[in-house]
Amino acid sequence: MTVYRMAISGLFNDKSILLLDIDAKKTNDRTWCFWHQDSCTWDSIVFKKWNTAVFASAAKRTDLDFSDYRYNMIRGADFYEFVFSELKKHPNIEFAQQRVFDFIDSGFNVLVKTENESYTCNKLFNSIYNPALAASQIKYPVLQQHFIGWHVKTTEAVFDAKKPVFMDFSIPQRGNTRFMYVLPFSETEAIVEYTLFSEKLLPEAEYEQAIEDYLNNLGVSSYEIIAEEKGNIPMTSYPFWKHNTKNILNIGTAGGWTKASTGYTFKNADKYSAQLISFLKTQDDFTTFHKKNHFWFYDLLLLDILAKKNHKGSSIFSAMFKSGKAAPIFKFLDEETSITEDLGVIFKCPKSLFLEALLKRNVNL
Ligand SMILES: Cc1cc2nc3c(=O)[nH]c(=O)nc-3n(C[C@H](O)[C@H](O)[C@H](O)COP(=O)(O)OP(=O)(O)OC[C@H]3O[C@@H](n4cnc5c(N)ncnc54)[C@H](O)[C@@H]3O)c2cc1C
Repeated sequence: MTVYRMAISGLFNDKSILLLDIDAKKTNDRTWCFWHQDSCTWDSIVFKKWNTAVFASAAKRTDLDFSDYRYNMIRGADFYEFVFSELKKHPNIEFAQQRVFDFIDSGFNVLVKTENESYTCNKLFNSIYNPALAASQIKYPVLQQHFIGWHVKTTEAVFDAKKPVFMDFSIPQRGNTRFMYVLPFSETEAIVEYTLFSEKLLPEAEYEQAIEDYLNNLGVSSYEIIAEEKGNIPMTSYPFWKHNTKNILNIGTAGGWTKASTGYTFKNADKYSAQLISFLKTQDDFTTFHKKNHFWFYDLLLLDILAKKNHKGSSIFSAMFKSGKAAPIFKFLDEETSITEDLGVIFKCPKSLFLEALLKRNVNL
């Protein structure tokens, strides 16, 4: 996104830009979803969009009112092709498939070492995530959004193509925050993901068994797995941006662009990439790019709760979505709400949990 926005801005035509990646980025390695109002830069590659979804708690299923938001899905392969086809039009931008194993900012320039080459550049945008940074501290809890998803074709017509399942907490929680996430394409085809917000990953067989059980409960007798995706996205308020230097900006998950309380990253990356282009017009010191806001603190409180009482996730998210009005929550998670609107969302949540977390955090901050 960052290099795409740099390319289309036309502001960097006199710069020589090298994009390094260990992978050629030609496979459909992930599916991105994000809610959005109006139009966005990625509209032409949106594979599917929905204007409602289902939220399920153990007690009830609610159809969510998205108001003017849409839930968009982009296939990774389409995204990479879209970006690379733009980059090909820019002779000043080159791609090299190489593994980066070190980079250092001397204060004047940045030295990047790959397996076979050394490069010197004025500025480096790093998206290689280093899990050791957050793991080596205890001030901020580190949870993972971890999941396995199967793209299945079923014999029976069990999905509603018009309604994804945003979070289905009716499944056994086993002491964690566990839910099903379903992206339907037809009555017989969907991506079904077993997802947890918790500290430790599970053995693969456990995610797979849970998807199988879910399909069985829907009444599926046989199915074919067309594709599989898996991931573990860090959920933490750890300030990754503190590792930015004058000439190295950490971007994407590596830069703390992942929304700590949800694991969603696509929209933040879109937003921050756009902000970065504006920033680069007038400024040059990357240590000043990141601006911390009060939403960072809200996320921290939720993660404090989930780190200590992981089984509470279901009741917290169920309370948030109880009214079925998703738009104010989307706006809140996009960090676009006013303080009054924030309170509207916060007061829906179990108050004693957040109050307790707030008191403990104020002491430890
Ligand atoms: C399966 C999956 C589904 C997801 N779904 C959603 C979603 O629906 N919505 C959402 O908002 N977020 C989602 N996310 C989270 C997030 O949006 C993605 O992880 C996103 O790709 C993060 O962007 P990034 O640039 O930080 O990392 P990446 O997209 O992973 O990019 C990092 C790049 O660095 C390269 N790399 C790594 N190490 C090296 C090295 N040593 N040398 C050279 N290159 C290297 C990798 O090959 C990769 O191309 C999902 C994540 C996964 C894994």
